[in-house]
Amino acid sequence: MNPFDLSSQQLQGAKFLSERRVGNVIGGVSGPALSGRWLPVTDPATEMVVAEAPDSDAADIDRAVASAQRAFGSDAWRGLRPADREKLLFRLSELIERHADELSALETLQSGKLQGIARAIDVQAGAEFVRYMAGWATKLEGQTLDNSIPIPGPQWVTYTRREPVGVVGAIVPWNFPLAIALWKIAPALAAGCTVVLKPSEDTPLTALRLAHLALEAGIPEGVLNVVCGRGATAGAALIAHPGVRKLSFTGSTAVGKVVGHAAVENMARFTLELGGKSPAVVMEDADPSQVAQGIAMGIFFHQGQVCTASSRLLVHRSLYRRVLDELAGIAQGMRIGSGFDAATQFGPLTSKAHFARVMDFIASAKAEGATLVAGGERVHDAGCFVQPTIFADTTAQMRVVREEVFGPVLAVAPFDDVEDAIAAANDTPYGLAASLWTQSLSHAHRIVPRLQAGVVWVNAHNVLDAGLPLGGIKQSGTGRDLGRAAVEGFTELKSVCMAV
Ligand code: NDP
Repeated sequence: MNPFDLSSQQLQGAKFLSERRVGNVIGGVSGPALSGRWLPVTDPATEMVVAEAPDSDAADIDRAVASAQRAFGSDAWRGLRPADREKLLFRLSELIERHADELSALETLQSGKLQGIARAIDVQAGAEFVRYMAGWATKLEGQTLDNSIPIPGPQWVTYTRREPVGVVGAIVPWNFPLAIALWKIAPALAAGCTVVLKPSEDTPLTALRLAHLALEAGIPEGVLNVVCGRGATAGAALIAHPGVRKLSFTGSTAVGKVVGHAAVENMARFTLELGGKSPAVVMEDADPSQVAQGIAMGIFFHQGQVCTASSRLLVHRSLYRRVLDELAGIAQGMRIGSGFDAATQFGPLTSKAHFARVMDFIASAKAEGATLVAGGERVHDAGCFVQPTIFADTTAQMRVVREEVFGPVLAVAPFDDVEDAIAAANDTPYGLAASLWTQSLSHAHRIVPRLQAGVVWVNAHNVLDAGLPLGGIKQSGTGRDLGRAAVEGFTELKSVCMAV
């Protein structure tokens, strides 16, 4: 396939790429990095370069933050009523849906993701999330409070206001580039903030297209700026910028800590949605087929490149063989191929470097003595394809149990006593998500509070809702995306005390 042959079926609608080079969007204007340097964007299914995006640095970030600051203070944005911001976000969500073919094609092209998943998650759920957040624009409120101020004379009126925090620096990863960008942008705009977004250098195309759609929706110039580049240059400049008042980051724990330190240096607010090693605990009374289907979805969906993936499975010994057999059957039956093929169930990993990392985890699990139940090999000579992989009889010390693979590799172990299962589930530095599989309500109510995770599912895994906060405890981060908590995270609480 010629990636720039826009008549090709895959890219119908992706006119955006008619120019090979796609510029940053700063202050409503699209353009190259000031340095004139470009970075390649590669299709992981073909390993072909499909576009180039700016290799921006601190000078470009300075321009973008200045533009966001101007917009934040402008009548065109600050002068809007909450209902006006709500309407603009509704328009943006309509445009996202209207461009579903183009956006999902771009997503598949840059990340290898199945186009169906890109359409369902990045586009449809993304647009729905924008509508959910649009509603919050008109519902943010403070409180009036009775007070006990002991100073005689005037009457006292005390109340709080929620005000937008200011310029937001948003940094997003490559696994759901559009959806996660919207998780940051929509609540920030609903709250009245302005944004500088840095997408992953591997997947900048949908974020750039989104910036154009925001302008088309009538969102004023400078309110949403997208600056592409490497994490170590553009990202580092954004997190260190004193003009940024809130950092909202999704990515690895290691980089998340760097972001947190930089935020504290400027006393900027910060939200970190980081890695996970999420356990799934299967009780004796669970339905094994439901477990196998749910866990296959939990670990193989988007090739396991999901922060909440069900990467550790702890199964009561009475169901162990049955669950393993069913899971192996599902893994072995998955159709592996291009994300553009509607019959594909399992696509490539997102980049050559990530592919190498995942293969290294598989090699280490084999070397450490885990039992290979399914997969474990590369598929095709070209492209970043690896089989859906299951290791049984894993032990707590193995790398595949301790570290986040961020790929389609499941580590399974049996348990006899539920106390051991809970201890094993919590025996991780991470605390993003967990699931419990049981038919018993009392098991569910007793065990859910004991699982150390920001999100717990019962008889499901990886099910998100716009209104349910998403975020981790322990090394999985701080603050929340989604829900009311997310939009409130883009506000400052101002206390007002008035002598009347
Ligand atoms: P990173 O944390 O390296 O990258 C996430 C984002 O941060 C990207 O936009 C990246 O830019 C940027 N970044 C990198 N370094 C810096 C820096 N010093 N300052 C500011 N921004 C920076 O994650 P990766 O994408 O490389 O993935 C590595 C691992 O992270 C995965 O294998 C997985 O374990 C975890 N991860 C977790 C995710 C989650 O949803 N919680 C999502 C993705 C990854 P650039 O890509 O251009 O370097």
